[in-house]
Amino acid sequence: MKNHRNIPFFVPHAGCPNCCVFCSQVKITGESAEKDLNCEVKELTSLLESEFDNKFSESQIAFFGGSFTAIDRNRMEKLLSVANEYIDKGVAESIRISTRPDCIDESVLELLKRYRVKNIELGVQSTDDSVLLSSNRGHTAKDSFVASQMITEKGFVFGGQMMIGLPNSTLESEIQTAKDIVKMGALESRIYPTVVFEGTKLYDMTLSGEYKPLSLFDAVERTAKCYKIFLDAGVNVLRIGLHSSENLVNAPFGANHPSIGELVKSYVYADIIAEKVNRCDGKILSIGVRKSDISMLRGHNCAAINRIKEKTGALNVEIIPMDIPRFEPCVSVRSV
Ligand code: SF4
Repeated sequence: MKNHRNIPFFVPHAGCPNCCVFCSQVKITGESAEKDLNCEVKELTSLLESEFDNKFSESQIAFFGGSFTAIDRNRMEKLLSVANEYIDKGVAESIRISTRPDCIDESVLELLKRYRVKNIELGVQSTDDSVLLSSNRGHTAKDSFVASQMITEKGFVFGGQMMIGLPNSTLESEIQTAKDIVKMGALESRIYPTVVFEGTKLYDMTLSGEYKPLSLFDAVERTAKCYKIFLDAGVNVLRIGLHSSENLVNAPFGANHPSIGELVKSYVYADIIAEKVNRCDGKILSIGVRKSDISMLRGHNCAAINRIKEKTGALNVEIIPMDIPRFEPCVSVRSV
């Protein structure tokens, strides 16, 4: 498998016509939304100059942070043309962008194609219109279906981003959203349990009691259910939760645990193992797992091991490193 890396360049909030209740792009990227184009081009150039020595066999220049296709056309083309210059110089192979479902049309897709954009990630967030409305997303589920169809028909790799725990959202609507993203033809996804940043509308809604932030347990459980849907459908989950560098210290409520992705994967792993075994009360459970997955089971105070014991009744669990694929454990049971 190729060694892949994104070279991320943040285009903060710029161009976004909306104000989602949870959005604090300035806080998330730690940068100001207002940036002079020359200054931005200089920053992009110096970022790409520093990438000449990278050892990754496949790199992508990734424009994240706002609604890339909603920014001023001149600015978009300028950034894309700098990125293309460095693709020609061998720094990267292609480009990935993220944007909103209602900021996609045929003409922008043609432009992105011309500039060697390969992956388009859409902030679907939910396919429940009442959730989108309560979150002030400013688009509907239909916009996501229409945009994803245009994206896949034009041959881009489509990625769907979704959120857990938005206002009015339920486990059922989140499961449906994950299934809908699969149906839209996503090959990639990202799942973001809602985090409440200071200075957002959601922060005020939390203080007034209008919104109840997710507990860590609920965030992990609900995210795990959606993650499993993507896993079973062969959709590559690129990320769970915000990156720890994304000013999580300014997020007093919600799923602000810096390792939430690992917690979710441990939870899913434990469930996969427990399903294979059913019950083995008072016995020893031997689990063969991929070497690199051992920390997923042992980490976070052995939460996964404890969950396996609880669900199967095993007296003890032994872990055996094996050369097998991720999430495909070999399990056997023996008496004490
Ligand atoms: S669409 Fe994205 S950038 Fe725009 S307000 Fe919503 S979360 Fe922020």
